[in-house]
Amino acid sequence: MVARSALLYLSRQEGLKDFAARFRTFKKLTTRFVAGETIEEAVEAIRAVNAFGATASFDHLNESVGSVEETEAEVREYQQVLARIDETGIKSNVSIKLTQFGLEIDPELAYRNARAVVEDAARRGNFVRVDMEQSAVTGVTLDIFKRLRAEFGLDTVGIVLQSYLRRTYADVEDVLKIPARVRICKGAYNEPPEVAFPNKADVDDNYVRVMKLLLSSGTYHGIATHDERMIDATVEHAGREGIAKDAFEFQMLYGVRRDLQMKLAREGYRVRVYVPYGRHWYPYFMRRLAERPANVWFIMKNLLKG
Ligand SMILES: Cc1cc2nc3c(=O)[nH]c(=O)nc-3n(C[C@H](O)[C@H](O)[C@H](O)COP(=O)(O)OP(=O)(O)OC[C@H]3O[C@@H](n4cnc5c(N)ncnc54)[C@H](O)[C@@H]3O)c2cc1C
Repeated sequence: MVARSALLYLSRQEGLKDFAARFRTFKKLTTRFVAGETIEEAVEAIRAVNAFGATASFDHLNESVGSVEETEAEVREYQQVLARIDETGIKSNVSIKLTQFGLEIDPELAYRNARAVVEDAARRGNFVRVDMEQSAVTGVTLDIFKRLRAEFGLDTVGIVLQSYLRRTYADVEDVLKIPARVRICKGAYNEPPEVAFPNKADVDDNYVRVMKLLLSSGTYHGIATHDERMIDATVEHAGREGIAKDAFEFQMLYGVRRDLQMKLAREGYRVRVYVPYGRHWYPYFMRRLAERPANVWFIMKNLLKG
């Protein structure tokens, strides 16, 4: 638990990124979780994902962007990604972060930038998932999502909610009324106990409650987890309620439990793999380390080996 908080604290220290990037071994290790630095490298990773029967979601890594020009460059990057999906015929949608589009500069800027990407996706018949970030921006992220959803279709834009937040069950009930497509995940940021359940058992219980609500809603949702207990609970609930295998999808991260991704795809479940790429890998990579203490030992061992 302490190691998790420490790693999540370090994930917010952008200054450490350049330091970390100097270690060639450290950079090499990021390739387990990050598909590369360019769109073409991500396209290749997605081809491999598609080959075993799963779809993907592009994520251009960047967050907490502090300049308007850089947020506009992010919009152009996503427009290029959407164009490459069409040109290559790979099966993928895209995931965006609102702080990547300027949420911490001005929410209206983030809305305008996100809107430009969602509009492009709508024109192409593709889908944009708005990732959820730290709890300080949950409310404003939901507000912007609702504005986008009011203008674009159910199958054009969706949102992410995190089962570690105390507010999430009510948020899920709220967005289901629109209706909206939800990706449920446990949550990856450092949050105080006032806003997030400090105990894993409560996070997991809430996950299962939300999963049941989502699956029984009749809308197509994403069940994002590598936790076999969450997956088993989902399969069991779907079986009991007569919910078809293609009425929802499992989602997992690039480089995590590929065996499980392939197994579920083989069993006829829909599986989507989240494929991050780009130069700003540091905070994403550190959150992945925080999720599993064994990852840290793996890194330490390799760093010591040089
Ligand atoms: C498709 C997708 C999208 C996501 N989007 C968001 C988002 O928008 N906002 C957000 O806050 N979080 C997001 N997350 C991250 C999520 O919140 C969790 O931090 C992460 O998925 C780990 O939780 P878990 O459900 O796998 O369960 P855990 O209980 O953390 O892990 C269960 C098991 O999965 C394996 N595992 C999990 N993580 C790792 C890892 N990093 N390396 C190796 N093994 C691992 C281990 O075997 C572990 O025992 C996303 C996750 C996925 C899969």
